[in-house]
Amino acid sequence: MLACDIGGTKIAGGIVDGDEVRLLAQVPTPAQSGPDALIDAAWGLAQRIIDEQLASGGARPEVLAVASAGVIDPIAGRVTAATDAIAGWAGTPLRDELAARFGADVHVLNDVHAHTLGEYVHGRGRGHRSMLLIAAGTGIGGGFVVDGQLVLGQSFVAGHVGHVDVVGADDVPCSCGRTGHVEGLASGTGIEQHYLRRTGQRRTGGEIARLASTDDDARACIVAAGEALGRSIGGFLNSFDPGLVVLAGSVVRAGDEWLAAVHDGIAASAMDAVAQTPIQLAQLDNAALVGAACWADTNRKERP
Ligand SMILES: [Zn+2]
Repeated sequence: MLACDIGGTKIAGGIVDGDEVRLLAQVPTPAQSGPDALIDAAWGLAQRIIDEQLASGGARPEVLAVASAGVIDPIAGRVTAATDAIAGWAGTPLRDELAARFGADVHVLNDVHAHTLGEYVHGRGRGHRSMLLIAAGTGIGGGFVVDGQLVLGQSFVAGHVGHVDVVGADDVPCSCGRTGHVEGLASGTGIEQHYLRRTGQRRTGGEIARLASTDDDARACIVAAGEALGRSIGGFLNSFDPGLVVLAGSVVRAGDEWLAAVHDGIAASAMDAVAQTPIQLAQLDNAALVGAACWADTNRKERP
């Protein structure tokens, strides 16, 4: 199956078979050029992959599975809301636009929902009934699987786990325009902003993580980020009892002190019965592509 993952900075694509992705390719996202240019870029990438597939003696894919940034209604196939990271993305009839170009079956899903489903079906979640995935990178997103079902929510917003209040983030601004959310303190951007507030110096999240062993300010930012994320995870354990938490995204590489702080945060907030829930690092490299394909596969089979 052909799959594409439309993000704020790049569009990735490939031929997905189970947890394997072949002919993996990517192009930069023309994020400020409007939805038509973006869909043309995604379709251009898809066509290139189809051509390579045909040239290598393979069959033309019959289904296009799409993961995309923004709040996605997978039933109507539309982008219902999006941040300014992709200009004009909200309201785009993504499925129909791509189906008109592809001439065949297209399925769409939010990228973090797809990431969650991929990791659940083919990664760490295999064999588990339920799972919480948290992706901590530039922002913090996530997804819940409960009793084998991906939770989309009434408005397809379920899994915005970065936007919950947490101790320590009181007046810290969040990307959503509110204050006090865990993303403002514990995302990669949050760590960079925290360091800037403390020291007046701009450093990347990776630099701050590397400095943590020698620089007290860097260490404080990394520990605050881990504890805040851990406290929020504790709250999700108490309310959902998922049985497994999978951590993904660039922030999970912040080091041992960060991970220890995550566990401290969980210990401070999780109830005894769920405090020992396993916390594992994600397994798949291209989980959103894999998950988009799982979603498309399930929906095709359910169609009468
Ligand atoms: Zn927020």
